[in-house]
Amino acid sequence: MTRNMIILGTGPAGLTAAIYAARARLEPLVVEGMQPGGQLTSTTDIENYPGFENGIGGFELMDIMKRQAVRFGTDFVSGTAVSVDFKNRPLRITLSDGSVHETETLIIATGASARYLGLESEQKLMGKGVSGCATCDGAFFRDVPVAVIGGGDTATEEALFLTRFASKVYIIHRRDQLRASRIMADRVLSHAKIEMVWNSVVEDVLDVAQDKVTALRLKNVKTGASSELPVEGMFLGIGHQPNTEPFKGHLKLNEQGYIITQETSTDIEGVYAAGDVQDPHYRQAVTAAGSGCMAALKAERYLEEHGF
Ligand code: NDP
Repeated sequence: MTRNMIILGTGPAGLTAAIYAARARLEPLVVEGMQPGGQLTSTTDIENYPGFENGIGGFELMDIMKRQAVRFGTDFVSGTAVSVDFKNRPLRITLSDGSVHETETLIIATGASARYLGLESEQKLMGKGVSGCATCDGAFFRDVPVAVIGGGDTATEEALFLTRFASKVYIIHRRDQLRASRIMADRVLSHAKIEMVWNSVVEDVLDVAQDKVTALRLKNVKTGASSELPVEGMFLGIGHQPNTEPFKGHLKLNEQGYIITQETSTDIEGVYAAGDVQDPHYRQAVTAAGSGCMAALKAERYLEEHGF
């Protein structure tokens, strides 16, 4: 069976596209992806999504969006896309379970994943004190000192969340000024449990042969001085990389791997991209949702024009 539309991803972009497509009676199939609900399911309260005056939990917001998509007739399948064939029509998508799906249009909303520093010790201690998600793992770090790496909104949000559990939260930032929005910066700078470690990078994650994080070796980038900071957790907040592996060689990507789009259209007819996978600039839930809507409307028009 050839579908009218397949949507890859269940973050705000994918689910908004599904709501629009389902309401247009296109009966879209949504592939849930590695993290159903996307990145918002691992954040705490979302205070800047319009319509929720007092904020809303990330998981709850995504659950509502999914139910809204289901209500209008969206099908869901679990799995991830591993390869694609855009040379022939219909388009063909192979999923992680080996199943092959055919579709006239495709909306790629596979989002982005947390970046890591790339240290060998970081890799070795993953899940043993090193984490890319404070909301997932923060509760394991009660009454012990932890560190968050980065200076943007992710790092500051993670640091604030960790103050609920940890005895002390260090934010290690490579410059002497936060990149985070003003409101988040003000909150961390005035928090009694948070201490900034400016102009510093992590050289190594130390385990002193205990197979769990015990300290970080830091380097001050201004003075060159090395120091050890005793912590039991290291949380990454240094940005994200787009989930575009299966599309390499099939679609135009930029240097960082983001899909190049023009108002959600890719360089292949009938293939659209929405949300963080094509957006290195805004990366907000509301902009992702907006682009998901645009992609669905464009795909709908394409189907109409091609007589499907
Ligand atoms: P950003 O790219 O904004 O910030 C990444 C931070 O990590 C920067 O401070 C950067 O330093 C630092 N960094 C990057 N690479 C390294 C490295 N190798 N070693 C050390 N430090 C490094 O990413 P975020 O994930 O914080 O935010 C992405 C987008 O999502 C932003 O637009 C943000 O506003 C948004 N966001 C919004 C939220 C909200 O509104 N509630 C919550 C979370 C994210 P430097 O500053 O020197 O470049």
